[in-house]
Amino acid sequence: MTSDSSLTRFIFDQLPIRGEFTHIGQAWRDILGKHNYPPPLKNMLGELVAAGALIAAMINPKSALTLQIQGSGAISLLVVECTGALKIRATAKWNGEIPHANPAELIGEGSFVITLDARDGSHPYQGIVPLEGDSVAAMLENYMTRSEQIETRLKLAADDACACGMLLQKLPEQESPDEDAWNRANHLAATLTRPELLQLPAMELLHRLYHQENIRVFDAQEIAFECRCSRESVTNILRMLGHDEVRDIIKEQGRVEFLCEFCNERYVFDPVDAEQVFVTTAQQAPASGVKH
Ligand SMILES: [Zn+2]
Repeated sequence: MTSDSSLTRFIFDQLPIRGEFTHIGQAWRDILGKHNYPPPLKNMLGELVAAGALIAAMINPKSALTLQIQGSGAISLLVVECTGALKIRATAKWNGEIPHANPAELIGEGSFVITLDARDGSHPYQGIVPLEGDSVAAMLENYMTRSEQIETRLKLAADDACACGMLLQKLPEQESPDEDAWNRANHLAATLTRPELLQLPAMELLHRLYHQENIRVFDAQEIAFECRCSRESVTNILRMLGHDEVRDIIKEQGRVEFLCEFCNERYVFDPVDAEQVFVTTAQQAPASGVKH
């Protein structure tokens, strides 16, 4: 694999424990390149990006998972969206200068929201819990335990070059022939340091932690930055806004502009383009489809 952004899954042979490592290089730098994020926010967003990939790797390739941290502090929003095929995008909102403080203080009171969209027309599933914990990993572990009832350990780290993480899960409803295995695996995962997580390849990390266990490793999957905004999706947003509202914006500003928060792509509709959005709708409507 030529990409430096990948995810590696593994299982403990004969034991109800699974795990994943992710190292996101270029895809993370692509996300960072779209905005000028202040340093403390960058680290937290990077950790959430790593977490997003680790959890999305367990869903259907066509589905999309969104992790959102909403807060009342200097950082008001962190959003990561990742598909099961590991196409990832992210964005954040903040207010003024970000002081050097721990993540819980920077976010303040808030909630952790996970949305799973099957993208098959069905209603997305959404889970919300209050924010608890002093790191992105702790907030997410708290979510998994409270909402999903799956014992989960996360180690996350990010810098300007990469966003990395490890996930370890105890599979529910399975008797283990080795009752101590989860404690052992968990304890070893806790010894992983930030430099190790950021610098070592997945196979070295696995060897470093679990060389005494029987582990099965699956082929690494590539992760890429991809935004799914398009002129077509913006056209649909304008249709939802309605003809009158769009005419008002044109009257005030001479054009309609839409900026994608994820990739910074700017979509501009001049008065003619804006009218065209609604002409097409009228032609598609069944009532006006009959022509003499
Ligand atoms: Zn976009």
